[in-house]
Amino acid sequence: IQGVHSAVWAFPALFIGYFVLPRRQAHGFGLFLLLAVSAAMLHIAGPAGAVRLFAAMALTLAMINVVLGVIGELQQALLRQAHTDPLTGAWNRRYFDEQLAQIAAPPAAAAVPNALLALDIDHFKAINDRHGHATGDAVLQAVVRLVRQRKRESDLLFRIGGEEFVLLLPRTRLDDAARVAEQLRQLIEQHELAPGVRVTVSMGLSAQPVASDAQAWLAAADRALYEAKRGGRNRVVTAAG
Ligand code: GH3
Ligand code: MG
Ligand code: MG
Repeated sequence: IQGVHSAVWAFPALFIGYFVLPRRQAHGFGLFLLLAVSAAMLHIAGPAGAVRLFAAMALTLAMINVVLGVIGELQQALLRQAHTDPLTGAWNRRYFDEQLAQIAAPPAAAAVPNALLALDIDHFKAINDRHGHATGDAVLQAVVRLVRQRKRESDLLFRIGGEEFVLLLPRTRLDDAARVAEQLRQLIEQHELAPGVRVTVSMGLSAQPVASDAQAWLAAADRALYEAKRGGRNRVVTAAG
């Protein structure tokens, strides 16, 4: 009796599907609704009405997906921003805490555990004092560039404080991680990081403890770093045990 008007409810139903269902199911629901309602309309209003309804619903579906795509991209960009240190482009402290908790959460199933390298620039305050804060910033950026050059794709570099960094090495044996650390130390020592500025770094390395405690793991690397500082800086110390 009502003709095409009897199918008006189908439009909000398309939207609701995308709000309450997972994306794949919403696609299925939308497609089903599109075909079922259009087929019913063929009986109710004939081919002309059915084609118009089909086109309007198909356009609505397309529009919903375009908008959801844009929102999804924005969300990804925001998430990346919320996890990135703006000065150096390394991951930030917030992301470090998340990743450390996640990586330490399940009992270490892998045969090879993860390694954590704490890195602190030596006498960095003196660089700022002597060359200015802008040069200090450039040095921080250069250190990150060098570490990125050497690290594997799967290693995660975080800036967790002013001139303090952590390199998380997933599934890496301690002696392999120590080799990487030593190479990084030399790489940084050998390069001029800003005109006339060279720095050294101290590092503390620790393997993921079997009793997976993220804080103990970080503390062990920190203690090793402290040892490296006390031992004269520009060196790598590996935590025992
Ligand atoms: P140590 O060898 O014992 O690590 O000495 P240090 O001078 O590197 O350590 P300290 O912790 O005394 O000084 C760190 C300095 O890092 C102090 C602070 O001004 C500087 N700093 C922190 N964040 C930034 C930053 O974003 N940019 C710049 N240019 N300097 C920073
Ligand atoms: Mg320092
Ligand atoms: Mg420091």
